[in-house]
This record gives sequence, structure tokens and C-alpha cells, in this order.
Amino acid sequence: MKAVMVVKDYNRETGELGEVACVDVPMPEIVNEDDVLIKVAYASICGSDPNVLKGLFPDRAPCPIGHELSGTIVMLGPKAEKQGWKVGDRVTGNFYVSCGVCDYCREGMGQFCPNAVGKVGTQAQYIVWSSAQLYKLPDSVDLLTGTLAEPFNIALHAIEVADIKLGARLAISGAGGIGLMLVQLARICGASQITVIEPEERKRNLALELGADYVIDPINDDVLAKTAEITKGLGFNAVLEASGNSKAAETALQIAAKKGHVVYFSMYKTDYNLPVNLYKYCYHNEIRIQGMFLGQSSFARAVAMLPRVNLKPIIDKIYSLDDCKQAYADQMSGKYAKLVFDCS
Ligand SMILES: [Zn+2]
Ligand SMILES: [Zn+2]
Repeated sequence: MKAVMVVKDYNRETGELGEVACVDVPMPEIVNEDDVLIKVAYASICGSDPNVLKGLFPDRAPCPIGHELSGTIVMLGPKAEKQGWKVGDRVTGNFYVSCGVCDYCREGMGQFCPNAVGKVGTQAQYIVWSSAQLYKLPDSVDLLTGTLAEPFNIALHAIEVADIKLGARLAISGAGGIGLMLVQLARICGASQITVIEPEERKRNLALELGADYVIDPINDDVLAKTAEITKGLGFNAVLEASGNSKAAETALQIAAKKGHVVYFSMYKTDYNLPVNLYKYCYHNEIRIQGMFLGQSSFARAVAMLPRVNLKPIIDKIYSLDDCKQAYADQMSGKYAKLVFDCS
């Protein structure tokens, strides 16, 4: 079967990017009793996938890539069958598998599970996942939308940890796939105004179409002046930093209202330190700085919410697995919100 693989790691001496290629690999096999063989329909590229090619993870080539998917069950182990899963079930799933029995898991914090495994490799024709990772797609959600369940869960959980009150003034920094999902969820959560900060004009326009009230171009606009104008000098009650850009991370603090919540949940460079003036932001302005790593307890609710949002406009292009080099080049251009592989 065909699979996208990282075939060359980032060169830490020359700075040359790593590479992906579509290669022929053996079909994955059912090994454990709760294993399920999935025929992948669509696998979207995560904003974090190119980080493998930029050296943000330990070297790993050759290795599979991709953790977002939708697909159909084609074969299943006896335990999965007993649990009620069937051939033909349309599913999506969570790549991050926690053990369920450690102290963190028992306290509902599976994201910190020391035994957790990230099962990547969805950008392929087939994958074997455990039934514990799977969620049935609601009947009204098609497979193309279904592949976005994992990033949508991150957006949903970011909204939860931001603790947004009805009528809040909200800023979303970055209009990638997750930023644009946040726009729709912010409307559902009753934000009174939604401002999106994004350098790409295409993505700013898409944010407006999807329900943002204001957009700011951080390259050509004065972000602080625009914020003052939009919020009548008060700042934003919540700022969701969805760009992963260090400059934007610093701006997020500057545009927060007194008592505002700033949520950081993007993958920043591992050696980046955010400068925070504690007197100004934490003492004087009582700002809450909130981190977030995955959304291990909200996935089922995210899948249940899929029929309430329209994620199709976020998908810019669909590629065959053979076109993976182009797909990754496009992803790294920063121009697009969400790019997807048709794995059929
Ligand atoms: Zn993802
Ligand atoms: Zn655990």
C-alpha cells in the first residue's frame, strides 16, 4: 500500500529541511485483540506535521507521518468486535493513546500519561489503530469533514480552557485551520466580538466569511492601535494564540484586557522563552496565562459537535498521496488553512 513517509531528517548542520515521499510499504496487520484495520478516506496535514521536517522532534527518518484521519473499518480483532465495532463503520480517532491506569489518567489528565504513545502514520491507504482510539462519525458528518475531528478537538478544548463568558471580547491570533475553527466555536460560545489577527489576506477574508467581526494584519496594521479602536481601549477578555509565532505570542499579552485570559496552545520552538513583565501583566493587570497540551478528555464532545459547524470552507486543497511533496511545500508556505490527502 502507499504511505507518506519522512525519508530524510532535517540537517542540523546546514539547516536543510527534511523530506517526505510517497512510498510502497507492507499492509499493517491486526496484532492485538482490540486492533482495527481502517481504510483511510482522508488524512489532513496538521500545522505541526512540517515541524518533523524542521528538526523540532528527534531525528526519526524513515518514519510514517500524519495523525488526523477519517476512514472506514475493514477488519477488526475479536475484542473490538465484542465492543460493537463493525466492518463499514465510519470513524475518526485520537492518535494520542494514554494508558488509562496511571495516576494522571485516573485523574482525567491523560495528556500527561508517562506511558502515552502517539500513533502516527495516517497519511497512508490503511492504518491499524486500537478501538480505544476510535470515534464513530455522526451520520450527518461526511468523511471529508471527519478528518478534521482531531484539530477541531484542540480548538474546542482551547475554548474551554479560555473560560469565555457570554459577551466576551475575543481575539484569535492566527487563522490557520484551528484559528478558523475557533471563530465558529467562539460564536457558539457567545463572544460579543471576534477579532482575528493574521498576516495572509486570503485567510483574513476567510475568517470574516466564517463569522469574525474584525481582522487585523499584524504586518501592515498597528495591532495595539487597532485593538484599542475595536475594544474601546479595554483590550480582549480572551486571547487565543493559535499561530505558534513568537512575535504573536508576545503581542497576545499586550492586547489582553485587565483580568484577561491568554491561552498558549501552539507548538513553539523548544528554546523560545516568552518575556513577561510580571509587574505589568500579572500583578497590575491580573492577566491569567494559560497553557494547554492536547485535549485528551474532550474528543467525544468534539466529534458530537461536528454537525454544528461548517468546516468545509477551511479546506483549501485536496491531494493524492503521490503529490505529498507538493502538499508539504504548500503547507510550509503558510498561505493555506487546511490541506488534506485523499487516501482512497
Ligand atoms: Zn493535529
Ligand atoms: Zn496513563
